[in-house]
Amino acid sequence: QREKLLSYAGVPSVTPDGFSMVLAANISSIKELEAALASGAEGVGLFRTEFLYMDRDHFPTEDEQFEVYRAAAEKLEGKPLIIRTLDIGGDKQLDYYEMPEEENPFLGYRAIRFSLGRKDLFKIQLRALLRAAVYGDIQIMYPLITSVEEVREANQVLAEARKELQAEGTAHRGDVPAGVMIEVPAAVAIADLLAEEAAFFSIGTNDLVQFTLAVDRMNEKINHLYEPLHPAVLRMLVQVTEAAKRRGIPVSVCGEMAGDVLALPIWLGLGIEELSLSAQAILPVKECMLRTPAEAGRRMLDELLRCRTAEEVRERAQQFHVEMT
Ligand code: PEP
Ligand code: MG
Repeated sequence: QREKLLSYAGVPSVTPDGFSMVLAANISSIKELEAALASGAEGVGLFRTEFLYMDRDHFPTEDEQFEVYRAAAEKLEGKPLIIRTLDIGGDKQLDYYEMPEEENPFLGYRAIRFSLGRKDLFKIQLRALLRAAVYGDIQIMYPLITSVEEVREANQVLAEARKELQAEGTAHRGDVPAGVMIEVPAAVAIADLLAEEAAFFSIGTNDLVQFTLAVDRMNEKINHLYEPLHPAVLRMLVQVTEAAKRRGIPVSVCGEMAGDVLALPIWLGLGIEELSLSAQAILPVKECMLRTPAEAGRRMLDELLRCRTAEEVRERAQQFHVEMT
């Protein structure tokens, strides 16, 4: 089975009726990038940079970060590389930096909130990213965006970083696109407004499902309520995609849901251009994609959107998956 899957690594990810969707990888290190490329990743849709900050006893310097981002860009040989700025806080802590004690860390001082609270550190990361962008197709992504102001403020720091590098005469690329993660219901509700500020959207379903359903994804007692195929989630996915398409910006999906083969008709139905998956999910999803016409996906999504319960959605998606096998 593994051999058969591996034979798909070099095959383009296109449906039988000619719809292509980039299958990129989620990575947190150069080592994971190598594994992803071996599985046929066509780029990186989410480089989680937390681990660069967690694996040491000090904040990584600009040069330390630059070296890692450049190495990733070079390994990708021109394939796209979306690097997410620091998403610390929540469950991810740093040994060398005291974060505030919080009652609800997932709703707390984390991700873009931390970066905008520590613009000195944020700018170091952005400078490293602009410098590394000389070596490949790097794009920047901001996590946990909930407002237009946050995007503007982050872009302002990005503009400052660019100006500094220019004034110093340091090699860098000025026109690096900056996109946002859609992973909070507020961002879904204002997706039309965010689409005017961002170069692209990437839907982070892990947090989006957690916040939409108010279900802690780590809490075993309520695990069964964590249901990505909930009708509320499906409607949000539609809303985000429509806002992006109206504005003409690309939209991808990078949460774990992207790697669930049952969700494939949803992406085909929505006309999503890119999925970013954990390395081991790339080939199984591609295998399904190779035999699922986008047209069938569109019809299936219409049906799924008419289901009233998550259970109905799951059952129908399961049937569809079997039909396509
Ligand atoms: C997500 O929330 O879907 C996501 C991709 O980010 P993370 O899992 O790193 O929170
Ligand atoms: Mg997230």
